[in-house]
Amino acid sequence: MIEVRDLHKSFGDLEVLRGIDLEVGAGEVVCVIGPSGSGKSTLLRCVNLLEQPTSGTVVVDGVELTDPECDIDAVRRRIGMVFQQFNLFPHLSVLANVTVAQRKVLRRSAAEAEKTARANLERVGLADKVDAYPAQLSGGQQQRVAIARALAMGPAVMLFDEPTSALDPELVGDVLAVMRSLAVEGMTMMVVTHEMSFAREVADRVVFMDGGVIVEEGPAAEVIGAPVNERTRTFLSRVL
Ligand code: ADP
Ligand code: MG
Repeated sequence: MIEVRDLHKSFGDLEVLRGIDLEVGAGEVVCVIGPSGSGKSTLLRCVNLLEQPTSGTVVVDGVELTDPECDIDAVRRRIGMVFQQFNLFPHLSVLANVTVAQRKVLRRSAAEAEKTARANLERVGLADKVDAYPAQLSGGQQQRVAIARALAMGPAVMLFDEPTSALDPELVGDVLAVMRSLAVEGMTMMVVTHEMSFAREVADRVVFMDGGVIVEEGPAAEVIGAPVNERTRTFLSRVL
């Protein structure tokens, strides 16, 4: 579903991604871990072309995004992204937050957008909050609205960039539970996270990045439970 080949990304003189090769199969959940500044966000942002790679190829759901002929807007609709900051529209209700892109981007009717929004708000446990405004919700609830908004677009893959890092500790669990249920339903997911217990439990594969390269990857039990690389060990000894 996602295929990244020899991906390089530089910002000026700074080479942030230095040759990334990664595949994520349909229904697979891959967690990306690594120290701050190792290029995790840049990698995710290259997967939906929020950043333009310097070189290399990215293929999502059979479409090469890095092909200059590619209709990037069409592909991006197939890729849901959830950020650390939820980025909800503060002046719109929960329902409107989840319907606006469906209407403007997918040109769905008001009725269809609302039906899809309600179904996805139900999916994240917020069916009773349709009329609330973001400021009336906890951070965890806002993040679940952001997830519902992404799901309402019918994505083939979901990218999560530290979705729980901005949340108070007691709110993290609800968001992880929603992500776990998506994984169980077979959603293809790439998740940058510091939640090692989530990675251990939910990820099919864990990728450890450092200095713009993948240093180690494999099943969670191996990479987190018994890392072979010294840099992975050092990182895990700090976060576990
Ligand atoms: P991570 O998500 O692993 O913390 P990032 O991908 O955010 O790492 O950043 C990797 C490196 O790239 C950092 O040194 C960061 O400062 C740099 N970087 C990220 N985005 C930009 C940008 N738009 N312009 C310049 N440098 C950037
Ligand atoms: Mg980051």
